[in-house]
Amino acid sequence: MGHNPKYRFWTRENWAGYAPTVGDMERKGWTLTLHCRVCPLEIGTSLPRIIAARGRTWSPWGKSAACPRLNCVGRMRARAYDPRSGFKIDV
Ligand SMILES: [Zn+2]
Repeated sequence: MGHNPKYRFWTRENWAGYAPTVGDMERKGWTLTLHCRVCPLEIGTSLPRIIAARGRTWSPWGKSAACPRLNCVGRMRARAYDPRSGFKIDV
């Protein structure tokens, strides 16, 4: 394991092309977590649950959702972990 140097210079656009949908992310073994930009809240997510709710072709790239913490005005953004390269990508 560890970082594969092949991916070191990949941009966010490269990653978005590599796994454009939640179905692609699941097939590649990615895990997604949600992080608030304002408060320290982090939430684990389940790709199978997202796929069940939104379908395999739904794309989380560039999407955000209101932080569920009381009185927080922040937005939650997803961060992906790619086990093949060991990289974390801001989705
Ligand atoms: Zn928050």
